[in-house]
Amino acid sequence: MTTSEHPSSPLFSSSSGEGESYLARLNPEQRTAIETTDGPLLVLAGAGTGKTRVLTTRFAHILLTGRAKPWQILAVTFTNKAAREMRERIGFILGEPAEGLWLGTFHALCARMLRRHAEYVGLTHSFTILDTDDQLRLLKQVMEPWRIDIKRWPAPGLLGVIQRWKDRGLTPERVTDTEDSDFADGHARAIYAAYQTRLRQLNACDFGDLMLHVTEILRTRPDVLDQYHRLFRYILVDEYQDTNTVQYLWLRLLAKRSGAPSNICCVGDDDQSIYSWRGAEVENILRFEKDFPGAQIVRLERNYRSTQHILGAAAGLIAHNGERLGKTLRSGKEDARGEKVTVTGVWDSDAEARAVCDAAEKFKAQGHSLAEMAILVRAGFQTRAFEERLVQIGLPYRIVGGLRFYERAEIRDALAYMRAVHQPADDLAFERIINTPKRGVGPAALQKFHAAARAREVPLSAGTQALLTEGGVKGKMADQVRKLLDVLSTTRDILAREGHVVAVEHLLEESGYLDMWRNDRSPEAPGRLENLKELVRALADFGTLAEFLEHVALVMEHDENAGDAKLSLMTLHGAKGLEFDIVFLPGWEEGVFPSQRTLDEGGLKGLEEERRLAYVGITRARKHALIYHAGSRRIYANWQPSMPSRFLDELPEEHVARQNEGATQRRGLNLSDSVFEGGMPLTSRRRQDPLLAETAPTFQLGDHVRHPRFGVGIIIGADRHHLEVVFESGDTKRLLSSFIEKL
Ligand code: ATP
Ligand code: MG
Repeated sequence: MTTSEHPSSPLFSSSSGEGESYLARLNPEQRTAIETTDGPLLVLAGAGTGKTRVLTTRFAHILLTGRAKPWQILAVTFTNKAAREMRERIGFILGEPAEGLWLGTFHALCARMLRRHAEYVGLTHSFTILDTDDQLRLLKQVMEPWRIDIKRWPAPGLLGVIQRWKDRGLTPERVTDTEDSDFADGHARAIYAAYQTRLRQLNACDFGDLMLHVTEILRTRPDVLDQYHRLFRYILVDEYQDTNTVQYLWLRLLAKRSGAPSNICCVGDDDQSIYSWRGAEVENILRFEKDFPGAQIVRLERNYRSTQHILGAAAGLIAHNGERLGKTLRSGKEDARGEKVTVTGVWDSDAEARAVCDAAEKFKAQGHSLAEMAILVRAGFQTRAFEERLVQIGLPYRIVGGLRFYERAEIRDALAYMRAVHQPADDLAFERIINTPKRGVGPAALQKFHAAARAREVPLSAGTQALLTEGGVKGKMADQVRKLLDVLSTTRDILAREGHVVAVEHLLEESGYLDMWRNDRSPEAPGRLENLKELVRALADFGTLAEFLEHVALVMEHDENAGDAKLSLMTLHGAKGLEFDIVFLPGWEEGVFPSQRTLDEGGLKGLEEERRLAYVGITRARKHALIYHAGSRRIYANWQPSMPSRFLDELPEEHVARQNEGATQRRGLNLSDSVFEGGMPLTSRRRQDPLLAETAPTFQLGDHVRHPRFGVGIIIGADRHHLEVVFESGDTKRLLSSFIEKL
């Protein structure tokens, strides 16, 4: 058992002293990767070979050998958590806290850069970062003048199109005629441009803009680029296989210094590329040598994380992928064969939750810390059964990512209040709070306020104020809105005098927002008040309101105080880069993992990405990997029989122990008996024939369609066999056309 304070951190798992010996405990290849400081370097290596460790040590090495000051190194991590760990680790090696570092996720780094140069893209340094809700609301407003049939072209779909352009580094001006999709009757690019203009007026940007704006500034302002070229002597990038085009452009711009070497070091593993659905391009790895001539490539082959059985199982699985760069992976733990990976068949998804949680409890009783255990699921919906069971048996757990605190309605309202104080031009925030709690502001009144603002060319709050002063609206509603504006303004005074915590307490109390929940009789109301209290508590951890709002906008993970040891519950995607002693991998069934979407698409590419995800899952484990599959599963409201995942067949027998907890109780379930045959998964699967698509009806972009699982949607793209459809939920999916019914 690891007794380290940061148990799930790959960076802290060594306990001996660091200091000068930091290089001594590395293998020769790792040392090469660290000591080759100048010139471009690509570290290409499998899971658990110490890539992240190399990057961190390299950072420290550059500092300790006097090659650069802390702020002259740009280091990109994939999550905020990884950034925090790296910062601590570097502080540890240096023997003092590392300050002023350019270390963080792509988005956090870009937010910081954009604050410095916001004026080049028409923003001021205090710009707001919008969340998805606000983006949608704004886009809907922007679309209005085009009189687009929004039933046919719903805003979420268009937002998806815009987001993909942003991922590819395309500003509206850079979207070519051929790129301009047929979406929204061919107005997509024009609406995109209008949306960007509107964002600028609001002094706001969306998440995609952070990368896009900064890249655009670096592309068009040689003076700014030059400034960063002089600043950043070294660039370090983790999880390089998952960078998308705009991130790649940004890195290349910063790294290519004229007259100086490109000291860029990227570490990655093509077998762990799991974000292609978000625009990541694994080809960026292949392009590296071309873009940076003379690049050195270092391969690390020794895995220090997992036992031989775990590694053998993972290696056997990933060998089924055709498209690989090919790497060798040897166990660095020659003395540790460890336990075989277990594959357990259970009766249904409830039994699965019981089996997993009971096993966790047993491990705990044997002395393993809960902090060293994780349940990794393929999809968010799977967590609920585990949560219920964990609560029932009283095992402390935390949900990492996913159901996030800051996404809850009351928290978003409170944040909107804060934004309205911090940023008077934030119309979306003001619009969110003007009638929350109810102040009698209906759509007609709101329109009047909007018109007043437009006529005066001022933000909505200022327009509202002006209209009230002139007596343009009267009565009880006017009084209440006036009171809201007064509270916003007194809060600003208190903010300046007494600080942000007192100011926000005043704001939530005096605006009547807390009372709204106190008077609410619904069962959720007390919980919401608790959440609001927690929000104010969180506020105290930050120096200013601005800092806090920035943090909230950027935080991807739900931060919990380290406190007690807890079991982690998260998606496989969220587990990238992490490690645990014990990893539970439930739901290995066709339609769950690989996901139904992948099966519907029928293509090899999607399936290979799922397999990489499975590889990521198994390789998170140091000592025990436990895989489960259930004979039936409740998907939405229905119980459905399920087939064991094809990935189970692909695990090499010599590394796997198969067992069955559900086979004996096969009563009453409408399941083929052979599902549990001898505890071995079935090899015949329901596969979909891609050729079916040939006989499908012809579709056109914009057609309304129905999918048996995802419901009603609209076609936004197509190729020979697949249709890209945006559904009412806002999700965009690529699906085999034969499963789609034209409406
Ligand atoms: P992933 O691909 O999952 O991100 P990685 O290649 O980044 O993995 P690390 O997380 O850096 O791998 O390292 C895996 C584990 O091996 C960590 O616990 C790390 O401390 C340990 N480790 C790395 N190199 C060595 C070494 N030379 N000696 C002992 N332990 C090592
Ligand atoms: Mg790593």
